[in-house]
Amino acid sequence: MALVLRSLLLPFMCFLITACAVSPTGRKQLMLVSEQQAIDASSEAYVQMLAPLEKQGKLDNDPALTQRVQTITKKLIVEAIKLRPETRSWEWNVKIIDEPDTINAWCMAGGKMAIYTGLINKLSATDDEIAQVMGHEISHALANHTAERMSVAMASSLGVLAVGVITDSRATTMAATAVAAKLAIELPNSRTSESEADRIGIEIAAKAGYSPYAAVSLWQKMAKAGNGKTPEFLSTHPAPENREQVLRSLIPQMMPYYEKARSNN
Ligand SMILES: [Zn+2]
Repeated sequence: MALVLRSLLLPFMCFLITACAVSPTGRKQLMLVSEQQAIDASSEAYVQMLAPLEKQGKLDNDPALTQRVQTITKKLIVEAIKLRPETRSWEWNVKIIDEPDTINAWCMAGGKMAIYTGLINKLSATDDEIAQVMGHEISHALANHTAERMSVAMASSLGVLAVGVITDSRATTMAATAVAAKLAIELPNSRTSESEADRIGIEIAAKAGYSPYAAVSLWQKMAKAGNGKTPEFLSTHPAPENREQVLRSLIPQMMPYYEKARSNN
């Protein structure tokens, strides 16, 4: 019995040993899934999450708003690809979810994005502020934070994953990773991941022609929103130390990018 158990667990343990990676800022990340696995699982999770919303008539209801968000994200994607050229092959996509009370936005691995009408309307978000939110979200995907959070989700539900690995059933593993991909956008990021996404996000947005000052005003508006209830966005994006101060200190470095982009328009 013990031998059987050992032979079953061995492949899984090997899997765990190789599970380490380094983020763009040199930080060690727990990696139980590769970025490609995260992209595949996210693609599946995106379809699963959007299908019921589509049925309820909650997707892209306002053509003008859809156009506005798509124009902003297209410019951000151009800059994201310049930063990480291999993301050119990602099937980038953005959906506007019509939930007036939800203050949230996310980007999964592979560039699958969503923004909720609650964030845009309750914050009276300007184009510059929408660009900062989506730039921040895109940066989580660029820095492979999705795979990292999926790994955390999987490490806390090892049983589910182990079954998939041990039985070598692709379908089981795929279902488990899609669940983890969904969990990855619902679990809080670490404060270190937040700092990375803030730093990369403000740069992408500036290079796309969106004011770096909006990074500060966005988080200020976010902190005031929610009527005493923490907005969904803040619960998954906890404040790193001195977020506002750090973003403000980055503005002078970002202004040349911003001004160059504006003069090219
Ligand atoms: Zn974040």
